[in-house]
Amino acid sequence: MKAMKLVASGFAVVLLVFCCGIGLVNGEANGKVTASKSLPAQLGTAATRRERLRKARETSYKSVGDIEAQHAEEQRQGIVLKKLLRGDPTRKEVALTFDDGPHPAYTPKLLDILDRYGVKATFFVVGMMARRYPNLVKEEAARGHVVGNHTYHHVDLTKLSEEEIADEIQRCDDVLKRILGKQPRYFRPPGGDYNAKIAQISQSMGHTMVLWTDDPGDYANPGEDVILERTLGRVRNGGIILMHDGIQQTIDVLPTIITYLRNKGYRFVTVDEMLDATVKSSALQNGGAVGSLKLSTWRRAMRSHSLGDLAPRSR
Ligand SMILES: [Zn+2]
Repeated sequence: MKAMKLVASGFAVVLLVFCCGIGLVNGEANGKVTASKSLPAQLGTAATRRERLRKARETSYKSVGDIEAQHAEEQRQGIVLKKLLRGDPTRKEVALTFDDGPHPAYTPKLLDILDRYGVKATFFVVGMMARRYPNLVKEEAARGHVVGNHTYHHVDLTKLSEEEIADEIQRCDDVLKRILGKQPRYFRPPGGDYNAKIAQISQSMGHTMVLWTDDPGDYANPGEDVILERTLGRVRNGGIILMHDGIQQTIDVLPTIITYLRNKGYRFVTVDEMLDATVKSSALQNGGAVGSLKLSTWRRAMRSHSLGDLAPRSR
């Protein structure tokens, strides 16, 4: 396990946010996060560690409503985490995100559809899959998509120790750095399961944590009509749509989703573009003065935002 420098990022990160539920871990929690020194005792034997990892792999997806409720609770407690829940609600754009790949049977098909329609998307890849199929990850990046970290083993991080959480994120980072030559900027916790500790670790490793506003549940193969209805009926400005790489039904409905939303006037963006636009619009909203905004002022403003402005609609 590599020694980690988990250093909170400070004021510069403030520029990231303002309007959309993205934030930084606040000052109170903003000190260094260090892995426990008494780690071997804490982790127990290799066998118990393996068993914990096995259990943590049993992820189940958090609903959009749960994510929204968690965000509301953070706001209530004044906890501001560096995360992207949704893009700028004033911009008619959405981000398609594909988790859990790469997959040799599906990723090439997904990439071809996205190319055919001229859509750039975001792939949250699993480290062990990326290590197995590095060329697919290279292909994703080469075709202009953003590649993000989705842990090494696809685990529910809330079931792991701090050391194990950092290890899961770091190992995926390492694989992606080897393949792409650069550190991924984005991280998505499997199942949407996170807490302040996970957000803080992810932030100190250089990531913005990305959640979602729309979850058609495609991973459960509910049928093309259901995926379409769940996606098209609910999308709003700044939507982040959670889909999966490795599902045939997703591939089958993707052209319809793209065509429909485009006809409705939506533009497809990566989370990178979404975040950049959000930062710019935040600067505009504040007369371009975000850079000189005091941290305390910014925190107050973040807290005073009503959830309705920021958070996805529940289902
Ligand atoms: Zn996943």
